[in-house]
Amino acid sequence: MTCKEAERLIPVFIENQLNYRELEKFLDHIKNCPACMEEMSVQFLVAEGMKRLEDGGSLELEGELKNLLTDSKRALSKHRLFWRIGLGLEFGAVIIMLVMLVVYLI
Ligand SMILES: [Zn+2]
Repeated sequence: MTCKEAERLIPVFIENQLNYRELEKFLDHIKNCPACMEEMSVQFLVAEGMKRLEDGGSLELEGELKNLLTDSKRALSKHRLFWRIGLGLEFGAVIIMLVMLVVYLI
């Protein structure tokens, strides 16, 4: 992912609307790109700060940003795990069908 692509995804990430494919690439990029990480932090602080001012909530945004990052990473690894289990189940079903087919043919 290029910085331009990452920048485009920042607002979507802040709204928590990235799909897993994009989220994976995005997190990967900001992990290795301090410029985009910085840009994301700034946009997050601005967006959340505005919301807080409107509804009078707390302004502990550093922690919130960390939460957003942690939650995103957690959601992504959960997604990967389910994906693997799903693949395993499918693979198992194919094996069972093959075995049944062989038994049937014999
Ligand atoms: Zn970048």
